[in-house]
Amino acid sequence: MTSPLQLPPAARPGDALSSIDTPALLLELDAFERNLDRMQAAATAAGVALRPHAKAHKCPAISLAQIQRGAVGICCQKVSEAFPFANAGVQDILISNETVGPAKAALAAELARHCQLTVCVDHESQIADLAAASQAVGSQMALLVEINIGQNRCGVTDAPAVLALIEQIQRHPQLRFKGLQAYLGSIQHVRGHEERRAAAAGAAERTAAVVAALRQAGHACEVITGGGSGTVEFDLASGVYTEVQPGSYIGMDADYGRNDFTGTLHFEHALFLASSVMSVGNGERTVVDAGLKSLTLDSGLPLVWGHGQVSQQLSYSAASDEHGIVQLLSPEAERPALGTQLWLVPGHCDPTFNLHDEVIAVRAGRVEAVWPIAARGLSR
Ligand code: PLP
Ligand code: MN
Repeated sequence: MTSPLQLPPAARPGDALSSIDTPALLLELDAFERNLDRMQAAATAAGVALRPHAKAHKCPAISLAQIQRGAVGICCQKVSEAFPFANAGVQDILISNETVGPAKAALAAELARHCQLTVCVDHESQIADLAAASQAVGSQMALLVEINIGQNRCGVTDAPAVLALIEQIQRHPQLRFKGLQAYLGSIQHVRGHEERRAAAAGAAERTAAVVAALRQAGHACEVITGGGSGTVEFDLASGVYTEVQPGSYIGMDADYGRNDFTGTLHFEHALFLASSVMSVGNGERTVVDAGLKSLTLDSGLPLVWGHGQVSQQLSYSAASDEHGIVQLLSPEAERPALGTQLWLVPGHCDPTFNLHDEVIAVRAGRVEAVWPIAARGLSR
C-alpha cells in the first residue's frame, strides 16, 4: 500500500523568496519589527499601556513578539480565538467584545483558568451567564462595560446604564469591574489627518464624560481602553485612554495605506500576498494565481507591490475565486513572464489572515520562519 500523500510546506526556513510556492501570505520582518518598535515606543512615551489586537492576524508568534517588546497582553474579538494564544503563553487577554449564552460563558470561564481574562459586557444577562460559568469551574474574571461612543454597534449609552451594570457585577465575588471599553471603529479610516484627529477628540470627549460621571458616583475605572491603528496617535495623547488596542499596524493593508499618516506615528506595509503569473494573458491583461480565496475584497482591491512601493506599471483589477486579473497600465509596461512572482498588498489584513494556515516570515531575501495562524477560523 502506498503511504498517504503529504503536502510539502510552501516554504522552509532558509529558502530563497523565489522558491516560495504561491499564493502565500508573507510578513517582511524588517518592516514588521519597525512597526512594532514604533508603536511600543509611542505607547511607552505616552505612559499608556499597549494591548495590541490579535484579530488582525490570529497568529500567536506575532503577539509574543509584541509582548516581548512591552505590550501588556492582547485583545481577541472572540473567545475561541483566544485559546491558541493562551496555549502559546499569552497570560493577559481581553475579549474586546460581548459574549452571549451559557455555552460561550463556559468557554470564557475555562479560558480564565489558563490566563488573566477580561471580557466586555453591555447587558445584565451576560453578567449572569459569566458569573454562573465562572462559579462552576472556580475561575475569576474581570469585566469591562462597553460604552457606545458613536459606533452604534455594541455598548450602553450613558453613565447610569454603566452604574446599573456595575451593581450587577458587584454581586458576584468571582467577577470584578475593571473599567470601560470605548472603541470607535468607524473613524479609523477617516483619510485626512486633521479630520481623524477631530473625530478621535470627539470620541475621547464622550468617553471622558462617562468616566467623570462614574467617578462622581464613586467608581474609578482602572482601565479605559479603545483605539485602533488609525487613531492611535491621538488616543495616546488624549489623556483619557489608559490603554490602546490597535491591530493592523503590524503589517498595514491597502485600505490603511489610503489614510494620511502625516503625524508623528506611521507604519509600513509589511504584509504581502505572494502570487505568481499563471497565464501570460494578452493585450493589457495578465493573470495571477491569487483571487478571493487568498485575499478578501471587502475593503477594496489589493495593490501590486514592486521595488518597495505600489507599482506604477501593474494594477490588480478583478478577482475570481482562484484568479486575479492584473492590468498593464501603459503600453511601455513590461509584461511579466510566466511564473513571475508578484507581491500584492491585501485590501484588508484581518479577513485575509483568516484565509491562511500560516504566514511566511521573510528577511533580506530569505525565509526566516513559518508561523502558524493558529486562530484561523476560530470565530465562536
Ligand atoms: N478594537 C476593536 C474592538 C476592534 O474591533 C478593532 C478592529 O476592528 C481594533 C481594536 C483594532 O483595529 P485596527 O486593526 O484597525 O487597528
Ligand atoms: Mn480591520
